[in-house]
Amino acid sequence: MVASRSARERKAAGQAGPLARVRIEVGAREQFVYKITCVACTGKGDRPWSAYRPGEDNGFMAAMDRWTFHLRERHPGSDAPCLAFLGEAEQRLQERREQRAARSQTT
Ligand SMILES: [Zn+2]
Repeated sequence: MVASRSARERKAAGQAGPLARVRIEVGAREQFVYKITCVACTGKGDRPWSAYRPGEDNGFMAAMDRWTFHLRERHPGSDAPCLAFLGEAEQRLQERREQRAARSQTT
């Protein structure tokens, strides 16, 4: 194993910024599942906003991209290292949408 889970958690939390709470779980296929929740978006009786999507790609990139979009949309005044990669995140989102569209056309 390259880096321990807690080391990955610390690294991801550092990138995600002060509003994020990062937790890593090991999925059914032994892969790392990143769960990023927002400490600011916790409503009464609601669960906190989370970048985790059941059944979807929850690897580092996918989770961090969703988190970056959340920061931009809901906390535009906040600062986090991951916001430096917003352009790349948007490009990846676009690519994922195109892949999904291509798949649905062939089936
Ligand atoms: Zn939030």
